[in-house]
Amino acid sequence: MDILTVSHLTKVYGEGAAATRALDDVTFSVEEGEFVAIVGSSGSGKSTLLHLMGGVDRPTSGTVLLNGADVYARSDEELAVFRRREVGLVYQFYNLVPVLNVVENMTLPVALDGRPVNEGRLYGLLDKLGLRGREGHLPSQLSGGQQQRVAIGRALMNAPAVVLADEPTGNLDTRNSRDIMALLRDSNRELGQTLVVITHDEEIALAADRIIAIEDGRVVRDERIRR
Ligand code: ADP
Ligand code: ADP
Repeated sequence: MDILTVSHLTKVYGEGAAATRALDDVTFSVEEGEFVAIVGSSGSGKSTLLHLMGGVDRPTSGTVLLNGADVYARSDEELAVFRRREVGLVYQFYNLVPVLNVVENMTLPVALDGRPVNEGRLYGLLDKLGLRGREGHLPSQLSGGQQQRVAIGRALMNAPAVVLADEPTGNLDTRNSRDIMALLRDSNRELGQTLVVITHDEEIALAADRIIAIEDGRVVRDERIRR
């Protein structure tokens, strides 16, 4: 079953002579549970695509369907809720709130929704992410690998159907990269969570079920990897 469908997606930043066509008529579907790697050179439109899949920005034209629902039919307010509940976003530089500790960062999306924290899920995740004993640490008191694990915890707290990660290992050494990908991969395999990862790391791309290559805002390659 398709969980995400991107149709004729176009994004133009700016206007007139300064306009940049970051995405140009991109169409593809992602199956539920699939692990997709998005590759392509810098400036090719990968982050723009991921953001549009996650309700972070609005397209110039085209549509994104998640579980059959039109993401951009939502109001800005509804879109904010959508981002917190239905997708998990992970960034290269973690995007943690510096004045909030590990637990507060992980539970921020739930708190913003005014919902109770599922303590079982929180402590299960802290264990799985190797963050037990660091619940009260601020991001500045953690290594890069640990900060990224907090960001993954935040993304997974609401058990989203889709996890979207933009170069999640781009700032980490090989050992930490492998740990981070193993965590994302486990969640993908065990929970059937769909995983879309932008990467420049060939090892990560080759571990995916499918590689989509973007150049100049267009899909230039879309291959399922045979095992
Ligand atoms: P990638 O993730 O592949 O490096 P991006 O999606 O970040 O590519 O960028 C695609 C193109 O859109 C680039 O030319 C970039 O400079 C431009 N771009 C991205 N974000 C913005 C923005 N907020 N305003 C203007 N131009 C942007
Ligand atoms: P990791 O295995 O995540 O790469 P490191 O080997 O970099 O961790 O760090 C070992 C320990 O040192 C970490 O558990 C962390 O508590 C602490 N640490 C690492 N970087 C910092 C930092 N910038 N500030 C404070 N403590 C740090």
